Amino acid sequence: MKQRASYQLFADIPPFLRRHDLACRQPGVDPAAFFPAADGSPERQRRAEQAAAGICAGCPAVDECAAWALATCQDHGVWGGLTPADRQRIRARRAAA
Ligand code: SF4
Repeated sequence: MKQRASYQLFADIPPFLRRHDLACRQPGVDPAAFFPAADGSPERQRRAEQAAAGICAGCPAVDECAAWALATCQDHGVWGGLTPADRQRIRARRAAA
């Protein structure tokens, strides 16, 4: 039963995340950088998110990643160069349109 659950989890991974040329999969890039911990300093959080978004800017899948994060309502982390606040604003704008 456990094995079936892990197969399901793998099947849910969007195809673009299996690419080897993603900016976040390159040597020296810490995947944790895309999920900066909230440590009580909004300015530090903003800087960490902007640094991660800067890495995304050079990614060949940036648009696809952003679209996926919006479509699947990812609440955490930087995806496709968008911070959680960016995605919240975009979703709110779309809902109001
Ligand atoms: S856009 Fe950013 S988070 Fe998405 S795959 Fe590329 S580097 Fe990773």
